[in-house]
Amino acid sequence: MHEMSIAMSIISIACKEAEKDGASSISNIELDVGKLSGVMIDSLNFCYESVCKGTLAENSTLSINEVPARASCKKCNHTFEIDSFMALCPQCESYEIDILQGRELKLKAVSVN
Ligand SMILES: [Zn+2]
Repeated sequence: MHEMSIAMSIISIACKEAEKDGASSISNIELDVGKLSGVMIDSLNFCYESVCKGTLAENSTLSINEVPARASCKKCNHTFEIDSFMALCPQCESYEIDILQGRELKLKAVSVN
């Protein structure tokens, strides 16, 4: 499962950070997840708990910030919110767009005890 490997890599990075700080445990992990990142948030939450077991992150919580997707039009420079890669510019109906944000999957903060 895609989300299982994502959860594992997030937790392994967070645990390394926590160890560096000499923390005894992690209380919260905060993530930015873009709408176009392809990550299923429900599924990630589900995997998170099982991956945490036996690590510094056991019993920690996962906070997910959903980042909306935005694009700009290469023809008319209009920027707008999108919900898929196949969006078209609402102003001039061009398909030539640049995705500005929405693909991120970022570990934002690790709170430790
Ligand atoms: Zn346009």
